[in-house]
Amino acid sequence: MGPIYLDNNATTPVLPAVWDAMRPFLADVYGNPASSHHFGRKARRALEDARERTAALLGARPDEVIFTSGATEANNLALFGLAGDPPAHLLASPVEHPSVAEPLRQLAEAGFRVDYLPVDSTGAVDPDDLPGRLRPDTRLVCVMLVNHETGTIEPVRDLARRLEGRAAFHCDATQAVGKVPVRLDDLGVTSLSFSAHKFHGPKGIGALVVRRGAPLRPRTWGGHQQQGRRPGTEPVALAVGLAVALERAVEEMDRRCALIRELRTHFLSHIRAAAAPVALNGPEEGGVPHTLNLAFPGLRADALLMNFDLAGVACSTGATCSSGSVLPSPVLRAMGVPDDRLTSAMRFSFSPLLTPAEVDEAARRVAEVVTRLRRAGG
Ligand code: PMP
Repeated sequence: MGPIYLDNNATTPVLPAVWDAMRPFLADVYGNPASSHHFGRKARRALEDARERTAALLGARPDEVIFTSGATEANNLALFGLAGDPPAHLLASPVEHPSVAEPLRQLAEAGFRVDYLPVDSTGAVDPDDLPGRLRPDTRLVCVMLVNHETGTIEPVRDLARRLEGRAAFHCDATQAVGKVPVRLDDLGVTSLSFSAHKFHGPKGIGALVVRRGAPLRPRTWGGHQQQGRRPGTEPVALAVGLAVALERAVEEMDRRCALIRELRTHFLSHIRAAAAPVALNGPEEGGVPHTLNLAFPGLRADALLMNFDLAGVACSTGATCSSGSVLPSPVLRAMGVPDDRLTSAMRFSFSPLLTPAEVDEAARRVAEVVTRLRRAGG
């Protein structure tokens, strides 16, 4: 058996059906969707059809879907676009992805006051903490739906209810779309973001889904595409791919989740039996089954990553490795994870394309590496 891919939170392969749907819009239907001639109109119809299908699947209206290059751009557009001018107060979770955390840091530098909500040991925010932390000048609240490192599901709907419309609410739903139900109308947030490549769609496209009437300022200026909120020629083939991948993910969500839950349970029990001590960073139950963050106390994440790769298991560290040192992940640190579990944290993430035999083999390889490194003294 060749290398086994357990890094599906980083990205996923494009499904053949998605690629088949995209192909004509790269070669044959190549018009600019803004052109009024026949070629342009044909491309425009495909683009607007993709937008309508995306909107319907996410509980939104077509004019509420802004296609972007991905979630990073969508998060930046939401944060800078909804924050307005300083001074004002912004409130966020401390476990956000860097594409939210970095803009927040920049907004703080620009004169906004940014506060962070506390999280429990699984990284979850308590909705009861929200009202007491709001200020008269709170303009934006930002909490993700599913955490990229631990799979923890945040209580976004309850948070939005507690907010009672007193500020805008942006939700990074990148690790949630296609894995748990995500609907703008149901969540009650102002905006949500995602990337197609996380659910077997193409790289280079995502969206910001933003409520009609929200005071969103553009971040780029140019043409009139997408009501001027994100100008530039729309990538028709990528939008078609996004819509088809999303349709599949929503249709098959229950089946995929059940399958992945079984794979994860199997993987975890194998590792626990063969590579103890192992600690779980994040929820044992109740999170999305796609993500498993495991710590191997006594070992270092950078050594584990390299040795897993050599043994044919692709995963990711739950920490940032730079110039020979392991920097603890801000997500795990915010959860209060002890040091030896911070510096040995590894993220395994699953997809429905994996077979039980592959997952079995991956668990065997992981346990073997861990045992060997422990024998060698780390
Ligand atoms: N938010 C979360 C929670 C993510 O996991 C990611 C991807 N790792 C992003 C945002 C950014 O997505 P992209 O790199 O596709 O822009």
